[in-house]
Amino acid sequence: MRAEVSRSAQHTPVASPLVGEAGAAKRRREGFPGPPPQGGREPAQSASRTSLVPRVRENCSEGNPKNRNGLDPQALLAWYDRHRRKLPWRAGAGERADPYRVWLSEIMLQQTRVSTVLPYYAKFLERWPSVRALAAAPLEEVLKVWAGLGYYARARNLHACARALIERHGGEFPHEESELRTLPGIGAYTAAAIAAIAFGRRASPVDGNVERVIARLFRVEAALPAAKAEIRRRAQTLTPETRAGDFAQAMMDLGATICTPASPGCDVCPWTADCSARRRGDAEDFPRRETKPAAKLRRGAAFFVLRPNRGVLVRSRPPRGLLGGMTELPTTQWTADFDARRALLAAPRLSSRQRWRRVPGVVTHVFTHFPLELIVYGTEVSARTLAPTGARFVPLDRLHDEALPNVMRKVVALALGGMGNRDVSPAPSRRAAWRAVRR
Ligand code: SF4
Repeated sequence: MRAEVSRSAQHTPVASPLVGEAGAAKRRREGFPGPPPQGGREPAQSASRTSLVPRVRENCSEGNPKNRNGLDPQALLAWYDRHRRKLPWRAGAGERADPYRVWLSEIMLQQTRVSTVLPYYAKFLERWPSVRALAAAPLEEVLKVWAGLGYYARARNLHACARALIERHGGEFPHEESELRTLPGIGAYTAAAIAAIAFGRRASPVDGNVERVIARLFRVEAALPAAKAEIRRRAQTLTPETRAGDFAQAMMDLGATICTPASPGCDVCPWTADCSARRRGDAEDFPRRETKPAAKLRRGAAFFVLRPNRGVLVRSRPPRGLLGGMTELPTTQWTADFDARRALLAAPRLSSRQRWRRVPGVVTHVFTHFPLELIVYGTEVSARTLAPTGARFVPLDRLHDEALPNVMRKVVALALGGMGNRDVSPAPSRRAAWRAVRR
């Protein structure tokens, strides 16, 4: 089974009432010139849309030459100076960012919304305020605090990278992209982001948002993923010699808040006059993408075993591969040709009088490479029942301390009588648990 995410480092646009078609309408209603509040837009930045464009043009005419792409990086930097999102990992204007914070946030933001990352980032920083502290933590603890954020290979790589930084670099981050890329979990995007934002190197991190901006600015006709090389090359030529870190963050903000996938706010964009797609009126057609065949649905069954007073049966997944090292309820294999009639053959053997009941409903979950459907069987066992080899009982009120991935939280929620992605913390009531397994 493939790992749940490849290293692609795409910042998902901020979930915001100002993004997308509805967002465009709201932007219009509010005469909004800059990024939405979700990213932390400063209140003082709510100037009217009509007031922004002249400022940008002024800036362009103040002697900032356009580069050989015909675009003026200073126009974007001027916009960024006024409208940058306030994010906890960002340094103040004129300050150099802490590489640990930049790295931590960039890893967490891969395939994940800013709003989702914020509480995890705060929790991590409070628990492990430095590379050294993170490297000294047991991996199991890191996985537990990461639980719920998804794409768990990131947590394992984060921990491995912290240890590599201690062993190879005395706990300091190297400044060069090439050196950063030799560290676990740091690919081209993250290396460029750290080098530019934390060390001021002229590097060009290209995530999904930046890809979209570049593809539109230049109407890049090649389809992704083949277009990546051209987009990266164009991003590099656009990056200025100075303030490369601010420029990188400005590109991220522009893509996340103005140059959105649907209904981009071209009329408030600092590059509106020079953008090829805006001129042709077909921005939403970029970036071009190859159509991918739909991923095949996998199915399986999960087994919820409840012991009176003691808890629920869980086990740890193998350290490598999908959800590696995470906690799970016992399950069948997840396959495209799953046969529900044979599901109970894979149920844990607990006693000769075991009776399983099918819990109504089904759990659905989407991994990067495939969608999954799980049916759930529940049973209750006596307080003396021992866990089978490789499994253990965890008290229901301690389940939230386990590295329980979202798909397993859904299984527990369904088994406990709820539906959907309900968190198991605070711990669900035992009465609900009994009701669920007695159906
Ligand atoms: S003008 Fe429109 S399409 Fe072009 S970069 Fe700006 S927001 Fe994106």
